[in-house]
Amino acid sequence: MEYDRILIRYGEISTKGRNRNKFIDKLRKSVRIALRNFPEIKIEASRDRMYVVLNGENAREIIEKLTHIFGIQSFSPAIKAAKEIELVKQSSLDLVQSQYKDGKTFKVTAKRSDKTFELTTDEINHTLGDHLLQNIPGLKVNVKNPDINLRVEVRKDAIYLSCETIPGAGGLPAGSGGKAMLMLSGGIDSPVAGYLAMRRGLDIEAVHFFSPPFTSERAKDKVIDLSRKLAEIAGGSITLHIVPFTEVQQAIREQVPENYTMTSTRRMMLRITDEIRKNREALAIITGENLGQVASQTIESMYAINDVTNTPILRPLISMDKNDIIKIADKIDTLEISNRPYEDCCTIFVPASPKTKPKREKVRQYESYFDFEPLIQKAVHDVETITIKPGEELSQEFDDLF
Ligand code: ATP
Ligand code: MG
Repeated sequence: MEYDRILIRYGEISTKGRNRNKFIDKLRKSVRIALRNFPEIKIEASRDRMYVVLNGENAREIIEKLTHIFGIQSFSPAIKAAKEIELVKQSSLDLVQSQYKDGKTFKVTAKRSDKTFELTTDEINHTLGDHLLQNIPGLKVNVKNPDINLRVEVRKDAIYLSCETIPGAGGLPAGSGGKAMLMLSGGIDSPVAGYLAMRRGLDIEAVHFFSPPFTSERAKDKVIDLSRKLAEIAGGSITLHIVPFTEVQQAIREQVPENYTMTSTRRMMLRITDEIRKNREALAIITGENLGQVASQTIESMYAINDVTNTPILRPLISMDKNDIIKIADKIDTLEISNRPYEDCCTIFVPASPKTKPKREKVRQYESYFDFEPLIQKAVHDVETITIKPGEELSQEFDDLF
C-alpha cells in the first residue's frame, strides 16, 4: 500500500474572509520550503484544502516535516484508487488493516464531489463497511466515536481513501502577520516567546545584547544556535542583530544607584531595540517576560521599563507557568541549548538587591543626570547583523561540493 497524497486542512485560515487567498499563498510557500528536499512533490491548493501529491516521495518523512508548519490544523495521508468499486474495496481493506489493532472500532464516511459515480454515499458506506467487517475479524462498527474513520472521497479523477488524522502545529502561516523584533537572551523563555509569536504568523528578527569581555564568545554562539533553531521553525533564515552593550552597561553602573541598575539596563535595552526596530521597519517588540518570575518582571517593573516606548511590546509568555514554558522549549528543541551554562550580560552586573517595585519617576530622574543618547546611538551603529540559515552546517557542506 502506497500513499498517493496528503490532504491538508487549514483550520483557522478558512475563517479569514477576504485575506484567505493571501493566507493560502503563504501556507503554500511554507510547505514548498519545508519540502524543498522532495523534488517530485506537487502542491495543489484550493480554497478549503491543500494536497501534497507525493509522486513516489517518502510519505513518513514528509508527514514529519508537515507537523511543524504553522497554519495547518491537521492532515491525512491518502491512497488513490481507480473508480471501480472492487478496487476500492481492496484498497480500503489494505488501509484499515494497516491501522487495525485488536478491539478497534470503525466507520466509513463517504463523500461525493463527483455525483455521477455509480453508488450513492450510503451505498458506498454500506458496501465498504460490509467488506471490512467480513475480512477483519474482531472489527466493530461505532458510528459516534470510532477509532478508525475511513474517509472515502469520490472525485472526478479517482477515489481517495484516508483514515489517519494527524494534528498539525496550528496557528497562522509564517509571514502572514508582519514583522516584530524578538529580544533574544540565552535563556529558556525568549526562544519560546519567539516560537509563539511566529506561530501567530509574525516574521521575527532577533536582537541580542552582548557585553564583551564580560560575556564570552560561547554565550554568543549559544544565541546563534538558538536563532538557528528558530530559523528551522520559520522555514527560512533569521536575521540576528548583536548589540555591543558593554559601554552602556558601564555607564549605567556609574550613573544609576545600584538597586535601580537593573531597571535602567532594561530600559536601555528597550530603547536600543526600538531604534533597531525603526530601522528594520518592524512594528512590535517581543520579549520572554513572564509575570512575577524575577525582580525585573513584576508589574511595577514592567511599568517602569515600558516607559521608554509606545511601541507594542508583545509578551506571549506573560501568564504561563514555568513548567509549561519548559515543555514547549523541549518540544521545539531549544531547551538543551538554553541550559548551557554561559553568562548572560544581565547576570554579570546583577545588583545584590534589585528593586522589585521600581518607581518610574525615580528611574527617570537617575537617568536624567547623564546623556545616554550618544551611547545608545553608538551601540545601534555598531550592531553586528548576521543572517542565520536553518541547518547552516549542512548547507555549507553542500556548497563545498560545487
Ligand atoms: P529568558 O529565559 O528569556 O532569559 P528570563 O526569565 O531570564 O528570560 P530576564 O533575564 O528578566 O528573564 O529577561 C526578560 C526578557 O528580556 C527576556 O525574555 C528577553 O526577551 C529580554 N532579554 C534579557 N536579556 C537579554 C539579552 N541579553 N539580549 C536580548 N534580550 C534580552
Ligand atoms: Mg535571562
